[in-house]
Amino acid sequence: MEHLRARKTGRVSVDPTSIVIPADLLPHDGRFGCGPSKVRPEQVLALAQSNQGLLGTSHRQPPVKHLVASVREGLKELFSLRKDWEIVLGNGGSTMFWDVATFGLIRNASQHYVFGEFSQKFADAAAAAPHLQSPVIEASDPGTHPAIKESVPEGVDVVALTHNETSTGVMMHLKRPDGDALVVVDATSAAGGLPWVPDEVDVYYFAPQKCFAGDGGLWLAACSPAAVERIREIGHSNRWQPASLNLMTALDNSVANQTYNTPALGTLVLLNEQIGWMLSHGGLDFCISRTRSSASRLYGWAERSDYATPFVADPMQRSTVVGTIDLDPSISANDVCAALRANHIVDTDSYRKLGRNQLRIGMFPAIEPDDISALTACIDYVVGALA
Ligand SMILES: *Cc1c(COP(=O)(O)O)cnc(C)c1O
Repeated sequence: MEHLRARKTGRVSVDPTSIVIPADLLPHDGRFGCGPSKVRPEQVLALAQSNQGLLGTSHRQPPVKHLVASVREGLKELFSLRKDWEIVLGNGGSTMFWDVATFGLIRNASQHYVFGEFSQKFADAAAAAPHLQSPVIEASDPGTHPAIKESVPEGVDVVALTHNETSTGVMMHLKRPDGDALVVVDATSAAGGLPWVPDEVDVYYFAPQKCFAGDGGLWLAACSPAAVERIREIGHSNRWQPASLNLMTALDNSVANQTYNTPALGTLVLLNEQIGWMLSHGGLDFCISRTRSSASRLYGWAERSDYATPFVADPMQRSTVVGTIDLDPSISANDVCAALRANHIVDTDSYRKLGRNQLRIGMFPAIEPDDISALTACIDYVVGALA
């Protein structure tokens, strides 16, 4: 019986990778990662087509500049931004943007709402910057978020929020506190899948490998007029800034539909195609309704299940783009993930540092809600086979 293996306990258990899920239960697409995430085939077709006249050509010439312009205009339309907002972009992804922000957005001190790995990392970047004062931290336990305070502490000029904490599956309703501090939002896994009101925000930054179903390596930031003013104020001050992290340099290039140094053109093509798909189906409302449909299927299943439970207790904080589901201790989430992976259903693993017996499921707009339903049926099948 080679599909049975003996555990240290002496108990004999099923090798998860030997489990074969019946074909009629399988999702059409087995990619449920939270970034990189499912890329739609039409995006890859657009990439192949861009080999004619775009890929391999200069980013200082009209074909690529038109592509960058299309991305910038498409995002303004998707987020219903006023004309005086700017879409700024540069190389390096959201992680790079934290360093960009410590140089180019924070004047003296920032306040960080920390409720997971990603929000912690921006706080760490600000704490390490020698030219800034120590940041103010508002923290809460994993699976929750701290309530946004009505006012900002004395001396704080940037409030750092996270629209969706990808490490825990907690989403936050964005609200501007009283005062003049810039509201700077990590929207890496939220942008294009969750609602937000531009009046509540100054900088909404993200990368294309989550809701935009693209590839990593780029950061994009929607900047309000107040944010643009701050970028110019710090840019003209005598603060030293590395050129590749200089936000004013990125802004000046972006308004000319360029980047400071060479971008990955393929990343821009995939992103532009996804923005076009979102807009042609009804824009952000369409995306939100898809992610909500997926989320109600996933959490509804977990609530009905006798072995699965939504990790985030408060339904209002339960993310509709990244679902985290705790499993009963008698069922190993690692075994479930291994069985799913053997059946080409991939990246359902929890965030490693969270250290829970948990599944984490991407429910970005590109993912078919029917595939989320199929996934839950596959998990039920696997758990039955493991028992
Ligand atoms: C994925 C993610 C990041 C990191 O993005 P990179 O592009 O890999 O740097 C940062 N913040 C959040 C909320 C994320 O989900």
